Amino acid sequence: MEWKQKLQEAWENRGKIANGFWNAYVMHKPEIDAEAARRKAICESNVCGLYDPIGKPETSMIPGQPACSRCSCNIHAKVHCTYCYCALLDNQLLRLKELQPDTNTADIPACQEAIQKLQSEGVSMGPDPLWTVMFTKEQDDILNAKRYEEQFKSK
Ligand code: SF4
Repeated sequence: MEWKQKLQEAWENRGKIANGFWNAYVMHKPEIDAEAARRKAICESNVCGLYDPIGKPETSMIPGQPACSRCSCNIHAKVHCTYCYCALLDNQLLRLKELQPDTNTADIPACQEAIQKLQSEGVSMGPDPLWTVMFTKEQDDILNAKRYEEQFKSK
C-alpha cells in the first residue's frame, strides 16, 4: 500500500482510528475489552479468509501487525472501535451501491436495512459481516460528550 493512499484512508477514517486506539490503549473499559476479545477471536479464526496475521506491507496500514486484508486496518485497533463493523460489510455496501446508485453509504443503519430487504427478496449480497457495531457513531458521540461533561463539571 502506497504511503499517499495510506494517508488518505487514515484521514478519511480518523474518527474510527482514534476511537479504536483510544479504547485499546488508553480507556480499557471492561465491556469494550470483552467485546473486542470476542471480535478478535472471530477475525483470528480466519473464517472470512481475509485475516492477515503478519500484516503484509501491501495490504496493511501498519505492516508487521495483524490486519484485515479487506480494509487494511490494524486488527487490535479495529476490534476496539465501538462503531466499526467487520469489513465484509464493505463488500455488501459496494454491491448495494451497484444495485441502488443513490444509496448514501455513510448511513450504515439504512444500508443494512436495504441489504436485508434485498436478501429477503432473494438477491445475493455476498457474505454477511461477522460482527457489527457496539454503538452507532451518534450514540458514541453522546457518551463521549457525557464523559467530557462529567470530567469538567464543577464540584
Ligand atoms: S474484520 Fe471481518 S473480514 Fe476482516 S479479518 Fe475480521 S472477520 Fe475477517
